Amino acid sequence: MIGIFGGTFDPIHYGHLRSALEVKEIFNLTEVRLIPSAQPPHRQQPVATASMRLQMLELAISNQPSFVADDRELKREGRSYMVDTLQSLREDFPVQSLLLFMGSDAFNKLTSWHRWQDLFTYAHVVVLTRPGFITLALDAFFTARLSTEKQALADHDAGRLFFQPVTQLDISATAIRQLVAAGKNPGFLLPDTVITAIKQNQLYQEN
Ligand code: ATP
Repeated sequence: MIGIFGGTFDPIHYGHLRSALEVKEIFNLTEVRLIPSAQPPHRQQPVATASMRLQMLELAISNQPSFVADDRELKREGRSYMVDTLQSLREDFPVQSLLLFMGSDAFNKLTSWHRWQDLFTYAHVVVLTRPGFITLALDAFFTARLSTEKQALADHDAGRLFFQPVTQLDISATAIRQLVAAGKNPGFLLPDTVITAIKQNQLYQEN
């Protein structure tokens, strides 16, 4: 089973990294692929360049051999649609279960994603919830795919919806960018190697 974690990672922080490590162990994943988005369709464009965001991601995971920085969205022209990314991952991994992870905030907007129903053709969707989090009522499309047993994700290579609580760390890239812009120390919210890269490249400073 392979985990997929998309995001802008502007910059990557311990909220991403801790969740990725927890799901790696919970689902016994062979690897977790972290995929920075080039042009996210649903939000403001990133502040740091794509190559800087990739470089910070690589620094953050350098001591985690089962984490892979996957730059396929950065190499593609145009908008970064997850359905295209999953299709390309499926070509690379034809027989493995693919688990697409997203926070509950992202799941709540899933039906606005490009060809969102097709995501389930290529992968399972695993929603990272807060412990005790109550999700909105699921419609028939989702209830038909909902699994409450982890085993279902191993028995099929795609097509299921699963909710997984993870430790919630109230860390966001937005808050980190604001701290840096205010001249404050973002220490302990993200790896020191990433903080050094932010300083060296003078990222997120107020103009
Ligand atoms: P920004 O503040 O710039 O919007 P972000 O911190 O939310 O960024 P993204 O790169 O947009 O980070 O997030 C990518 C994925 O990681 C999303 O699925 C999001 O739900 C999840 N995520 C972000 N922060 C956390 C966190 N603290 N804990 C768990 N998941 C997170």
